[in-house]
Parts: sequence; structure tokens; C-alpha cells
Amino acid sequence: MKYLISACLVGENVRYDAKNCLQHKLKYLVDTQQAIVICPEVSGGLSTPRHPAEIINGDGTAVLKGTAQVINIQGDDVTQAFILGAEKTLKLAQQHQVTHIILKANSPSCGSQMIYDGTFTGHKIQGKGVTATLLEQHGFQVITEHEFLQKLMD
Ligand code: SF4
Repeated sequence: MKYLISACLVGENVRYDAKNCLQHKLKYLVDTQQAIVICPEVSGGLSTPRHPAEIINGDGTAVLKGTAQVINIQGDDVTQAFILGAEKTLKLAQQHQVTHIILKANSPSCGSQMIYDGTFTGHKIQGKGVTATLLEQHGFQVITEHEFLQKLMD
């Protein structure tokens, strides 16, 4: 069993606000060499800290089709960095033949169920981020940290 996990979930300060979302049970998987980690946005070339970004007019599928963009709160188009980060994450998953992927909920890159709606108001819509979409298009199943932690309790 080999896991791929969002870097912010194991304590790396790679979020847009240079903070993390540490989940100790996920960090344990890294500490015991069961998991590799990546932050798609940093891998795509974005800095930390960075302006928060959301997908405008769609979801990860639309971004990959070229019909929606990822825009940061300053109005800059960061779509290409998000796509590059997704491609690098896919390559890493394939190289390591990971079997389980746990990505941070609600992120425009990592979200696999809900994402913010592009208005920067905190509202969420159903949909996946760019990286979660690309991974699923290539046969990987992506779950959120909440789903993983819930499964441990079942
Ligand atoms: Fe990076 Fe994904 Fe965490 Fe955002 S949610 S900081 S893209 S690992």
C-alpha cells in the first residue's frame, strides 16, 4: 500500500497563507515510509505565501478543457501553474504506483468533492479541483482527509 498525500496535511507550511493543516494520522503514514507528499500549487511554480485562488466559472474538468480559469484574489490568471502542478502530481503518482490518494478537501487543486465557487466569499459548490480531476481522469481514486479519517473510525 502506498499513499500520496497533500503536503499541507502532513504539516508542511505550503498553504497560500504559509500555514498547514496537519493531521497526525496522515503524518504517521509519512513517518513510517508508507506515503509520499506533494503540494501541486508549489510544484506548479507558485510561491508560499501566495494570494488565494479559486476556479472561476467551473471546476477542474472545465479548467483542463480550457473553458474555465483559476484566478487569484488579485485577478491574476494562475491557470497554467495549477495545470502544471496537476501534471507533476500525476507523474509522481504514476512513478511511485501509489494505491491511495488523500488530498485536502475544498482546495481548487486538491478538492475531490467540493470546491469554492469562484466568488471568494467562502461558498462551496460540488466539484473537484484541477489536480484531483487529472488524477481521476487517469484512473486514480482521490479521497479527502475527512473520508480517510472517517474510514479509520468505521
Ligand atoms: Fe498545496 Fe493542495 Fe495543500 Fe493547497 S491543498 S496547500 S495545493 S497540498
